[in-house]
Amino acid sequence: MAATRRPGRNHLFIPGPTTIPDRVIRAMSVQSEDHRSPSFPELAKPLFQDAKMVYGTTEGTILLYPSSGTGIWESALTNTLCRGDKVIAARFGQFSHLWVDMAQRLGLDVIVQDEEWGTGADPEKIGEALRADKDHAIKAVMIVHNETATGVTSDVGAVRKAMDAAGHPALLFVDGISSIGSLPFKMDEWKVDCAVAGSQKGFMLPAGLGLLCVSQKALKVAEGGQGGANDRLGHVYFAWSDQLNANKGGYFPYTPALPLLYGLREALATMKEEGMENIYHRHAVLGEATRQAVAAWGLKPCAKEPKWNSNTVTAIVVPEGVDAAKIIIHAYDRYNLSLGAGLSKVAGKVFRIGHLGDLNELSLLGAIAGAEMAMIDCGMKLTPGSGVAAASSYLRENPLHKA
Ligand SMILES: *Cc1c(COP(=O)(O)O)cnc(C)c1O
Repeated sequence: MAATRRPGRNHLFIPGPTTIPDRVIRAMSVQSEDHRSPSFPELAKPLFQDAKMVYGTTEGTILLYPSSGTGIWESALTNTLCRGDKVIAARFGQFSHLWVDMAQRLGLDVIVQDEEWGTGADPEKIGEALRADKDHAIKAVMIVHNETATGVTSDVGAVRKAMDAAGHPALLFVDGISSIGSLPFKMDEWKVDCAVAGSQKGFMLPAGLGLLCVSQKALKVAEGGQGGANDRLGHVYFAWSDQLNANKGGYFPYTPALPLLYGLREALATMKEEGMENIYHRHAVLGEATRQAVAAWGLKPCAKEPKWNSNTVTAIVVPEGVDAAKIIIHAYDRYNLSLGAGLSKVAGKVFRIGHLGDLNELSLLGAIAGAEMAMIDCGMKLTPGSGVAAASSYLRENPLHKA
């Protein structure tokens, strides 16, 4: 098809990048600046404090890197672990798979706990492995909080309880790239040691700014350990020590991505105005509205039980014989709606609706209407309007914010 103008906005419902609020776009439209100037810390310093609210921490330390989320995974592993160290990782979707793959390629000895796709981390299994590890050879537990490929949220608090019950000192690493800023995240309460986030999902920014929050314990491990910091996995650019030294004065050791810092400042201001509890509630309501639509279509989410349901993304399983990839292409071509694809094991079997970031009832209903139209166009037997009716009824009953 020849390129033609696409009127109206693209409805961006992949689970990241997410729609950027207009005021955040405006805040990022800035001339380049001297990042060594005396006034630069006025921008940088408050970011390290203000971002803590999103992580549910007062004790953690924030690090900001020009990087996508994957770089921040790498920084968490390379600053705290040594070649050959044992780690436990639960694997139940494409993102947990990729994190395991990274850990293995970095030279870690990964004890992989495979779970069925559509389920999540099993705290009991993790506790059992830790209890059996009498000499504390296991150095870390790696959990993807919200598996974006399947729309599954794991219970990080329960994993922490299992670790404590086992009396094991392993570090707790959490990939919160598609949860932090949208789902309740309790860095301090759950005693998370490294919490990984990226700018393009809950933070409503373009990709390119990686956010890491580290505990005091993780900082100590990074500094010391038996062989000192030198036996850590190789790292130079991602070394926390270089960042932290410069950050103290409100500077960065390397050239920061300035527009993203202005964007982060504005995004944090929008989050503060709405309030984190309101943000969490809004995501819970929009998530449930999406699931009501899915049920009305006679379809099922990829999440195997309600306890696994994610409030930031729903992966919808299409019937046998239907190619979900065709629905996604049709939705884009015909209705200018971007849905998330099924990845790896679930390619062609699911499509995903991302419902995180800056959205409200009517933006979500646009995506539900578009998905419904695309499914019908592609030959699926659905009652037109059924998903929209179910979701809109639910949304009318359930305000996005608590009174
Ligand atoms: C998006 C995502 C990633 C990958 O992040 P990038 O910013 O693309 O590097 C990793 N984990 C989860 C859970 C994600 O949703």
